[in-house]
Amino acid sequence: MPIVRLGDEGRWTNYHGTGTCEGATRFALRSGDAERGRDEIAIAAESVQDWLAQAKLAKRRVRPLGAGWSPSNVNISSQSWLLHTRRFNRCFRIGAGDVRPGVDAGALMLVEAGALVDEISDKFEEQGRSLWTSGAGNGQTFAGAAATGTHGSMIARGGIQDHIRAVQIVTPAGIHWIEPAAGVMSDAFIAATGSVALRDDEVFAAAQLPVGSVGIVTALVVDSVPKFLVRPIQNLRKVDRAALDWLAAGDFRRFSAAYALDRDPDFVQMIVNPYKPFKRPAMLRFLYREPWRDDYPRATPGQLGAGYDALSLLGRLLNDYPWARGPLLQFAMKQGYASGPDVDDPPVYGSWGEGLDTHRPLAGLFNASVTIDRADLARAFERICAVYAKHGGSTVVTVRFMERAQGLLAPARFTHNAVIDFDGPRSRRTADAYARVVECLDAEGIGFTRHWAKNCHLDAARVAADYGEDFRRWRAAQGRLLPDPAHRALFGSEVLDNLGLTR
Ligand SMILES: Cc1cc2nc3c(=O)[nH]c(=O)nc-3n(C[C@H](O)[C@H](O)[C@H](O)COP(=O)(O)OP(=O)(O)OC[C@H]3O[C@@H](n4cnc5c(N)ncnc54)[C@H](O)[C@@H]3O)c2cc1C
Repeated sequence: MPIVRLGDEGRWTNYHGTGTCEGATRFALRSGDAERGRDEIAIAAESVQDWLAQAKLAKRRVRPLGAGWSPSNVNISSQSWLLHTRRFNRCFRIGAGDVRPGVDAGALMLVEAGALVDEISDKFEEQGRSLWTSGAGNGQTFAGAAATGTHGSMIARGGIQDHIRAVQIVTPAGIHWIEPAAGVMSDAFIAATGSVALRDDEVFAAAQLPVGSVGIVTALVVDSVPKFLVRPIQNLRKVDRAALDWLAAGDFRRFSAAYALDRDPDFVQMIVNPYKPFKRPAMLRFLYREPWRDDYPRATPGQLGAGYDALSLLGRLLNDYPWARGPLLQFAMKQGYASGPDVDDPPVYGSWGEGLDTHRPLAGLFNASVTIDRADLARAFERICAVYAKHGGSTVVTVRFMERAQGLLAPARFTHNAVIDFDGPRSRRTADAYARVVECLDAEGIGFTRHWAKNCHLDAARVAADYGEDFRRWRAAQGRLLPDPAHRALFGSEVLDNLGLTR
């Protein structure tokens, strides 16, 4: 039996301590030892469906959990049955006979829904393949990361959900194998997973980014590219105001030439102190992609510049000494940021996965963001920093770049996107300052969306307005997977109901 009950009803707190489920009955979905992935997934999907029926009988809502990272509390539901998926994490190769004609089976992997981004990345790298983008950390489950549109700053790529080619979703009424209309997996393979094929572009686009609201994801088919090396450059530089125009226009080469290497970068990230953003040095990170070679000298994640946790350590100081906030933040940036490898240091290289880490839990974390049309960056950025600093925001401000991402509810919905993150210590003042940023963007008529996983103060009216016709299409697709309102309610929670996703 792949689902086991974990103890008595009680409390469960999410990974970063932003929310607690009261009266939670916890269950775990666990991998088996079947030789073939399709057999294992068939067994698991059936037992998830039985579990949903039992939850309904017990009059409890359900909440599937990945790594429990989301600070927006889309993973929190009280008086519910929680399903931990972390131990349902096997990954399987896909054979040429299992896919439809024209599909490259060697690029694909069948993964159980609880597999971490890190685990999938490792498996791909063992096979000479790689993910092409992911978030700054890799300790989320793939299903959980895709559920909220997780992204990094690969400038020519979208979100992590863009890797998904097919997904198995279990609802009380069915076990669905969802793919685009063109199809990916063979009919025989899909039948062996115990699912009914649903080849439909609309439902697939809804299922790529489901925000935990269309059923339980049990398995995914994940795509990859040939493995590549990245060379990081990481430095502290005063960024000129004019450089924002280059970034807004997508002239990343010029930005790179000014602050790092005179080469086309693949990844550009800028972390600034919102207190005098152009007077104080910003932390810049560039990645330059190179063809894979086996003989590159190995470097540690630290040498590759992974993570920037130390920024959070001065959280209390920032909150308690408002007059010193600007200099303290700059001190934290200097201490917390791996200095180098800079342009003149000996180059270091790593695979995509080696440059990431799984992150440690950070209690008292604040995360929020706005995603804007990159073309608006120059006019929006300075306003955002000024408003945020004026109202006492106590985090750094990070700018990342990405192309339009897949999935009807992808926050990166502009052709070219600039994502502005406010990540750091939690405080009331910081949350208020972020709310002022949102007001300011509205007042200036600058369009933006917000991250599903972060503390972005969204509500149903705003979600419907931000996503417009795509939201209506997402609801229609959800209605095809969960036609019975009682089944939609089964996946509801206070947070998801307020977002208008499950009511
Ligand atoms: C320290 C930190 C760093 C981060 N860095 C980034 C970043 O660089 N870029 C970025 O975009 N985001 C980032 N995030 C946000 C993070 O990627 C998201 O919160 C992501 O959703 C977490 O994945 P998870 O596995 O923990 O999902 P959870 O938080 O457990 O769940 C997220 C949602 O998915 C649902 N869900 C999970 N598994 C399933 C399943 N099997 N079936 C159906 N629904 C499911 C849950 O019910 C919930 O609604 C960061 C968050 C933190 C705390």
